Amino acid sequence: MIKRTQTRPVQIGSLTMGGSNHVIIQSMLSSRTSDVEASVAQILELEAMGCELVRMAVIDEADVKAIPQIKKQVHIPLVADIHFDYRIAIMAVEAGIDKIRLNPGNIGSRENVEKVVEACRSHHVPIRIGINSGSLEKDIHEKYGKPTAAGMIESAKRHVQILEDLGFYDIVLSFKSSDPKLCIEAYQEAAKQFPYPLHLGVTEAGTITSSAIKSSYALGYLLHEGIGDTIRISVNGHPRKEIPIVKQLLKSVGLLDNVPNLIACPTCGRTQWDISSVVDEIEVFLQTIHADISVAIMGCAVNGPGEAKHADIAIAGGKQEGLLIKRGVIVEKLPQEQMVARLKEEILTLAKLQEAG
Ligand code: SF4
Repeated sequence: MIKRTQTRPVQIGSLTMGGSNHVIIQSMLSSRTSDVEASVAQILELEAMGCELVRMAVIDEADVKAIPQIKKQVHIPLVADIHFDYRIAIMAVEAGIDKIRLNPGNIGSRENVEKVVEACRSHHVPIRIGINSGSLEKDIHEKYGKPTAAGMIESAKRHVQILEDLGFYDIVLSFKSSDPKLCIEAYQEAAKQFPYPLHLGVTEAGTITSSAIKSSYALGYLLHEGIGDTIRISVNGHPRKEIPIVKQLLKSVGLLDNVPNLIACPTCGRTQWDISSVVDEIEVFLQTIHADISVAIMGCAVNGPGEAKHADIAIAGGKQEGLLIKRGVIVEKLPQEQMVARLKEEILTLAKLQEAG
């Protein structure tokens, strides 16, 4: 049983982050925010997969203008990622954004910071301060000689102090690095030093393989220690790639139930049907199923039925055919071309049954 670190809750639209609330799944759009159609399409797809919060880069007035148009077509809160331009931050807040990501030490004079903080305060918009190991302040980098957890904490303290001096506490913090070990150290220290919710992430994690490995190691470790209030697993390309990895990680750690488990044998010389195409199609299908069910797809009828008997629904292949197995009982023999459709049907039935209670 994981004992979650208690943090100061912040409200982000309809979501409460921190405290004893669940770990919020988030992602970031790869579309230009001003391309409303593309941005809405990405958000709706992410929502269907289980994403609860989405960030988008807001870099100019065209992006700001898109915020209300996007908001009215989607159902999850939106975060504006802003760098350096305090006027864009204020405009984004006034346009209805639910949270901003901005480092107050990077937007110039105290007067600028005060204006942003006042806008956020009056619109109940929290601010995430994002510390990245690769962009620490010059003096901090020189002091420590390289990116370190201590340097990241020192940088965060400066930015946090600016907000706290203005009586603003709706703060979320992140401490990202492409080095997973550094991420672990920085977040562990941050959990001791700050009362604010932590946004977990490994930055520039790369492709699906490298990102899944680095993020599962670092963020899984932290989640297991009870650290983290929201999580993004960043993967190069379309954000739809991120959500299944996050959900499997949260499920593996024991922080999320309603995620299907897909079991597939590695295949070997006994396989006599096209198992991979079925596995690939069912994997995509399961991404929008929000139920705690296990599905097994096994390559042969020799070992398959035995290994699949603990799954809710399974296929054990034969020669261009397969046995459909429900909770260990063989119920049907299916030709290859019917397997995907039948499996989908069974999965939907199981998911509905679970939903009904
Ligand atoms: Fe090979 Fe059958 Fe095991 Fe798959 S289930 S790896 S096909 S023996």
